[in-house]
Amino acid sequence: MKVTIIGSGYVGLVTGACLAEQGNNIFCLDLDPKKIEILNSGGVPIYEPGLKEMIERNRAAGRLQFSTDIAASVAHGDIQFIAVGTPPDEDGSADLQYVVAAARNIGRHATTPKVIVDKSTVPVGTADKVSAAIKEELEKRKLSVDLCSVVSNPEFLKEGAAVEDFMRPDRIVIGTENTAAGLRAKEQMRKLYAPFNRHHERTYYMDVKSAELTKYAANAMLATRISFMNELANLADLVGADIEAVRQGIGSDSRIGYGFLYSGTGYGGSCFPKDVSALSKTAKEHGRDLKILDAVEAVNELQKYILVEKIEKRFGKDLKGMKFALWGLAFKPNTDDMREAPSRVIIQELVKRGALVVAYDPVAMPEAKHCLDLDFKGNPDGLKKVSMVENPLAALDGCDALVIVTEWKAFHSPDFEQVMQKLTRPIIFDGRNLYEPSAMQELGIEYYGIGRHN
Ligand code: NAD
Repeated sequence: MKVTIIGSGYVGLVTGACLAEQGNNIFCLDLDPKKIEILNSGGVPIYEPGLKEMIERNRAAGRLQFSTDIAASVAHGDIQFIAVGTPPDEDGSADLQYVVAAARNIGRHATTPKVIVDKSTVPVGTADKVSAAIKEELEKRKLSVDLCSVVSNPEFLKEGAAVEDFMRPDRIVIGTENTAAGLRAKEQMRKLYAPFNRHHERTYYMDVKSAELTKYAANAMLATRISFMNELANLADLVGADIEAVRQGIGSDSRIGYGFLYSGTGYGGSCFPKDVSALSKTAKEHGRDLKILDAVEAVNELQKYILVEKIEKRFGKDLKGMKFALWGLAFKPNTDDMREAPSRVIIQELVKRGALVVAYDPVAMPEAKHCLDLDFKGNPDGLKKVSMVENPLAALDGCDALVIVTEWKAFHSPDFEQVMQKLTRPIIFDGRNLYEPSAMQELGIEYYGIGRHN
């Protein structure tokens, strides 16, 4: 099938590559010429395991192209996926300007019937806005407004495992209008996703608004589990319990399950923070407060400071003359995404207290440099206190402690002898509970985890 993907970021690129992999003919559009240039010269602007190879394979087979040409992109696909960003607006709601701009472009150029698919995470009611924007543009051109039908098909992939998640999804959610055009759109979506349903049917068909809400409900539930565990971990520290034992004790209950029960430095990334706040905003617009979600957000904000709190408790508030090694910058492993990464808060707070920070991340350092430039805008002296090195052991040289922020696999079993040799004091603040406190004690390492009674 001929498909256009509007927006070639984390979701758009993965969607485009995976649909091309199934034999479809894909046109990926982006308005950022730098991104398209990188893609057209064989690179990939983001890090996502398996994506580069898949893009190369499908580009070579002539099934995947990248361009900034809006008219050509609209002409190409009978199905037009909107996969542009929906960042938080100042008031916490989802900023729909990119979605609406993409919709208008379709309305300005469409001459044949199109199925428009909202792949971006958008608040309930957005499909109506997309539809209205397209129809307005079609009417200006005196074309039939029935040319387009809008479908909601939210994306559930996880960064770091995005290709795998897209190719073998837990579920595919498709929301369509109950009109003749909507039914035709549903049939086209069924055909497009048929290869993903060969093993068993994974698609849930529903109305558009329910599909839009399903995406927010899923992220809100996951964020709730994280904040719940973080609150319990902080309590475990106070009462002398071990959150890891508690996690296993409750995860073994089949009604609860083990997934998403880890405590840490708070959730980050491009989705949970903005989606929790956008859902809460939607509810407020309808005269309701989502009290649980407001608490989830508040707990998460505090949790980003938990490592700094532990560092202060150990060393005092003034960290002048101290140097900290930081392992992990990305908001989670296997990605270079730095959006809302807790590492950014931790670095700011350490520098604010006078400390130097030497950071290492296997893939996120180029993106982190860019983000730190923004975070330290107006504070060049602060920025000078942060450096990055090319391997994890080098980061430790002469540091007063190691701070672990992201649970990359490479950090799970380091050579502790070397870690101890390189640090001036054998102290680890572990924001991901990678190590056993008893093993650390045996090695003579002073160890602070999250909720591990220290
Ligand atoms: P992104 O910022 O990585 O990519 C968005 C891209 O859209 C950018 O490259 C931007 O240049 C481009 N763009 C903006 N306006 C455009 C326009 N009018 N025409 C063409 N291109 C345009 O964003 P992302 O992380 O891929 O997220 C996209 C959407 O998917 C968001 O709504 C997000 O919430 C949702 N989502 C993201 C993830 C994730 O893990 N990143 C998972 C599920 C859903």
